Amino acid sequence: MTQSTAQRLYLFQLSTSDVPIGGGRILPMVAACYLVQMEDGKNILIDTGLPADYQRPAGMPAAENQMNVLEHLAEIGLKPDDVNMVITTHFDVDHAGYNDYFPKAEFIVQRSHYELAKAGDPRFAAARPHWDDPALKYRLVEGDVELLPGLWVIESSGHAPGHQSVLVVLPETGPVLLVIDAVILQRLFTVERPALPDEGSADEVRATTRKLLDLVEREHIQVIVFGHDGEQWKTLKKSPEFYD
Ligand SMILES: [Zn+2]
Repeated sequence: MTQSTAQRLYLFQLSTSDVPIGGGRILPMVAACYLVQMEDGKNILIDTGLPADYQRPAGMPAAENQMNVLEHLAEIGLKPDDVNMVITTHFDVDHAGYNDYFPKAEFIVQRSHYELAKAGDPRFAAARPHWDDPALKYRLVEGDVELLPGLWVIESSGHAPGHQSVLVVLPETGPVLLVIDAVILQRLFTVERPALPDEGSADEVRATTRKLLDLVEREHIQVIVFGHDGEQWKTLKKSPEFYD
């Protein structure tokens, strides 16, 4: 019997913002989550976005073009209960804020990350009411794991301990790497990249960046999606369009 493989990848734009970076320059940023559809119709969501009750800190640039994960699912004809699995890349507030809308799904998270967040690391407190809902079922994984044929989580600590990226192999496009926040901007995808505030040690960040660069070379990956790169985002296909 042949196994169901990944068929479609949707990129959900949750919001954009223009971040001033000094000298009158603007860095376009994006917040996103993703949906993979398998041949047998299973839906795998990757992250869920900022919670609806999120209070933007004073001085933070306004979010524009907002559309939450539920609205994106509805646009392509899906309800929350149609989602079979949610890959939580990490529990930062902009990635896990709608987890509680998916009690029917199985959640996938790295064990080290889950244990750190559960132990009460304040970094993951903002979205905790949404990700630490007793109705949610978490499966804890360790390292690089093929969850379904052609759908991998890739352990990519650095941005946070136990952060994970996602590799999905599509029939036409081939392998696509969703780097998530292991590398938030395309221009940081080099082994020399510095650790950003709140990230791990320079060595850890460099080791993960090298691991991902090696993966791209080994698997001949042509499509690489960075976590928050508003400039690259303009060049990508967004839902309701999809990669197949
Ligand atoms: Zn993020």
